[in-house]
Amino acid sequence: MLNLPGLSIEQTAETATQYDFTVKVISSPPPCCLDGVVLNGTKQTMFRDLPIHGRHVGIWVNRQRYKCRGCGKTLYQSVPHMHRKHEMTLRLVDYIERNSMDRTFSALAGELGLSEFTVRSIFRIFAKRELAKLEPVTPEWMGLDELYILSKFRGVVTNVKDRTLVEMLPNRNKVAVIRYLAGIEDREKIKLVAIDMWNPYREAVREVLPHARIVVDKFHVVRMANEALERIRKEHRVSLPMRGRLQLKDDRWMMLTNPDKLDAGRMWLLEAMLGQFPLLKAGYEAKERFRAVWRAENMPAAQEAYDKWESDLPEDVRPAFNDLTTAMRNWPPKSSLTLIRGSRTPIRSPSTPWRKW
Ligand SMILES: [Zn+2]
Repeated sequence: MLNLPGLSIEQTAETATQYDFTVKVISSPPPCCLDGVVLNGTKQTMFRDLPIHGRHVGIWVNRQRYKCRGCGKTLYQSVPHMHRKHEMTLRLVDYIERNSMDRTFSALAGELGLSEFTVRSIFRIFAKRELAKLEPVTPEWMGLDELYILSKFRGVVTNVKDRTLVEMLPNRNKVAVIRYLAGIEDREKIKLVAIDMWNPYREAVREVLPHARIVVDKFHVVRMANEALERIRKEHRVSLPMRGRLQLKDDRWMMLTNPDKLDAGRMWLLEAMLGQFPLLKAGYEAKERFRAVWRAENMPAAQEAYDKWESDLPEDVRPAFNDLTTAMRNWPPKSSLTLIRGSRTPIRSPSTPWRKW
C-alpha cells in the first residue's frame, strides 16, 4: 500500500481522517568511530507521507538507538525514503516543493496534516536552493517598474528585450535601486533603462549608470491622456440625466480604445456618442492628437508636434490634461537631443524606444 521498498508494514490502523502504518525497518548500524556502536534502546518516530484516499498518513517506526563506543555519541537507525531533516518521506517533501509556488501554505498544511510552519520552512529551503541556481544576465535594455505585493511597492527589474524578469527589490526607493545597480559588476553593458515617471528611478540611474539612456515607457505617458479623458467624463456626467450617465459609463471603453481597433459599427456609435457631448468630444480629440505625437519620424518632429498639441489644447479641456502637461515639463528631453537630431532613423516598430528624456 505504501510502495516504499525496505519498509514492511506490521500493523495498520485507520480513523476517519488518518491512516497509521507501523513499519519495520531492517538496516545495518550507522558507522561512527572505529570501535563500533552498541544498542541503546529504541525511539518511536512518526513520519508523514502523501495522503491516501484523502486521509493523512503517518508511518510509525520504532527506530533502534545506538551509542558509539568511541565518542559516546547517540545515533539512530536510518530509515530509507525519509528526509534527513524533516520527519517525512522524500516524496512528500518533493510534493510540497512542487505545490508551494501556486498554493497557500495553510492550504497545503491542511491537505497534508502538517503545520503551516513546517510547510513554510520546507519552502524557504527550497526557494534558497532555487535562487542559488539563478544566473541573471545583465540586460542591455533594462526595465524598472513596480508591483504591489504584500502591502508594499516592490521594485521589479526586467530585461525589456528578452521580456524576462531579472530581479525583484524589497522596495522601490532610491537607496534600494542604487544598491542593486551598483552591485552589478558588468553594469556598463546596460545601454538603456525604461522607467515610469518615478523620480527615484531617474535619480538612481543617473547616479550609477551615467552612460545609460533613460526612456520613459510610452505606456505610462499615453495612460495619462486616457486618465484625462476619464476625468472629463466623470465631471461631465454630473450634469446629465441618469440615462445619459449610464450610456457614458457603458460605452467609455470605446473612447479609450485605439480607434484602429474599432470596427465600422463601433466607430459609428462612438461618433454618435461624442456628437451628443461636445466637451467629451474635445477631450477625445485631444487624446487622439496626443497619441499621434508618437507617430513622428524623429525627435525634433515629435517635439514640434507636442508643442503644437499643447498650444492647440482647448481651454475647457486643458485642466483635465494638467497632470500630463506637468509630467511633460518635468521630464524634458535631455543631452541626447543633438544625438537623435543627427540621426534621422525612422521608427522601426511602435515599441522602439527612441525618446531620451
Ligand atoms: Zn563515534
